[in-house]
Amino acid sequence: MLVLSSPSGAGKTTIARGLLEKDPNLELSISVTTRPRRQGERDGIDYHFIDEPHFLEMIERGELLEHARVYGNLYGTPREPVDTALKAGRDVLFDIDWQGAQQLRGSAQADVVSVFLLPPAVAELRRRLEDRARDTADDIARRLAQVADDVTRWPEYDYVIINEALDTSLAQVRSVLVAERLRWRRQPGLFQFVERFRG
Ligand code: 5GP
Repeated sequence: MLVLSSPSGAGKTTIARGLLEKDPNLELSISVTTRPRRQGERDGIDYHFIDEPHFLEMIERGELLEHARVYGNLYGTPREPVDTALKAGRDVLFDIDWQGAQQLRGSAQADVVSVFLLPPAVAELRRRLEDRARDTADDIARRLAQVADDVTRWPEYDYVIINEALDTSLAQVRSVLVAERLRWRRQPGLFQFVERFRG
């Protein structure tokens, strides 16, 4: 379970996309959210867009692995697709905030690898948020204010990357993924493999 968190506008979505493109054994966990759909977002691909009663029902039924309120909207990770992927030996990428990361660590500490992306500078962050022009001025102001809190969460993560250049950051996250896959606890066939040399 590879968790990627960052304050809004630090480049996380682009990096997530880059990781998924190059790695057939990695799949994205598609969250449910009560946030209104932005222009260009597709239901079932970027998020499952649902209303609040439906969201609360999913919590009630235990269908969410974690959930949190972020920037005034509800977000959550559906449990079933994650279970299915992990059982099939695939890795899952989570684009979730620090609250969700905390909950995942609480329920599956040994399986979670977490990476925190930091934006290079406040001015750059503001420029990125304004450039993408998907949010209203109010939204952007709220997100910038929230960033001040969010950045303090970095020590809770296994890895921290300052996203100066997307290509470099992408290569760095990929290195984390490759290295973490080589941990012997994550290579279930190793005992049988080595037994062959003793036979
Ligand atoms: P956005 O509205 O920009 O798509 O996402 C806002 C924030 O919510 C981002 O930091 C994103 O990582 C986080 N987020 C998205 N999906 C989930 C989720 O399922 N759970 C949690 N805890 N956070 C999420």
